[in-house]
Amino acid sequence: MADLGKPQNTIAILQKYHFIFQKKFGQNFLIDTRVLDKIIEASKITKDDFVLEIGPGIGTMTQYLCENARAVIAVEIDKYLMPVLEETLCEYHNVEVINEDILKLDIKRLVEEKNNGKPIKVVANLPYYITTPIIMGLFENQVPIESITIMVQKEVADRMQVGPGTKEYGALSLAVQYYAKPEIITKVPPNCFMPRPKVGSAVIRLIRHQKVPVQVKDEKLMFALIRASFNQRRKTLVNGLSNASDLFIEKEQVIQALAKLGLNFNVRGEALTLEQFANLSNLLTSFSELSTTEMENKYTL
Ligand code: SAM
Repeated sequence: MADLGKPQNTIAILQKYHFIFQKKFGQNFLIDTRVLDKIIEASKITKDDFVLEIGPGIGTMTQYLCENARAVIAVEIDKYLMPVLEETLCEYHNVEVINEDILKLDIKRLVEEKNNGKPIKVVANLPYYITTPIIMGLFENQVPIESITIMVQKEVADRMQVGPGTKEYGALSLAVQYYAKPEIITKVPPNCFMPRPKVGSAVIRLIRHQKVPVQVKDEKLMFALIRASFNQRRKTLVNGLSNASDLFIEKEQVIQALAKLGLNFNVRGEALTLEQFANLSNLLTSFSELSTTEMENKYTL
């Protein structure tokens, strides 16, 4: 089969199937063999690996993945791409295409069934409109994953990698860094895609931590604190957290916790590291445990 990384081959197959690009699915197909080679190299795929590709499109990167991996599962939402993929992947016997919305698929179960629950590698040129839910879904649903190598919007790649004190730092940075070690591999300009996206892109690799880098008693609370802090970025942490309707935290508790952590009471969330958010969350958990015990004592006396 002709290498679809070459623009003339992509054009030929698109014309053969009278394919119409669907903007709502974020369809920008890769047409640069050097970028494809870089993604494969960065993902460190070997013949032992089971790979999940999200959004294969016409199968350009899928062909590269099939050449290098033991098995590939490619999940594509657009039913009009099914006959195209049947043709472009017909030479490979280590690939299965699933016509589904990745956000509706139980990926953990899929990995259980297809790879005996052993860790997989995820490789994708993601549809940009759902980058964050896809990544967070993979991590939060405890899908066994070794690494994720993905093409995303350049700004989103930056947000995943930065630390406190930068304007890109936010809830996504903290969530990604809690689960994985991010590393931007390369920037990719719009002319490497068909059609050209309006934004610059970047390939980023997230290697999952063997052990999370901070100890948190209540992960859900920590992420709720993080979300509340960045939802109200301009506010101090004390005001941001005590105003958040889903948190039920008293201003006084936040002030006490910050004092214990040696932080100023007018600090903003954007100044806190992941470790400081974890410590803050643990202190607030122990305050609420304390008040529950106090309440129980009061009523059993
Ligand atoms: N991998 C191909 C390439 O590199 O040329 C295509 C990448 S294109 C940026 C994103 C692909 O994801 C499209 O084929 C699109 O139809 C598919 N897609 C969009 N939303 C999806 C979803 N919710 N679930 C699965 N695939 C989706």
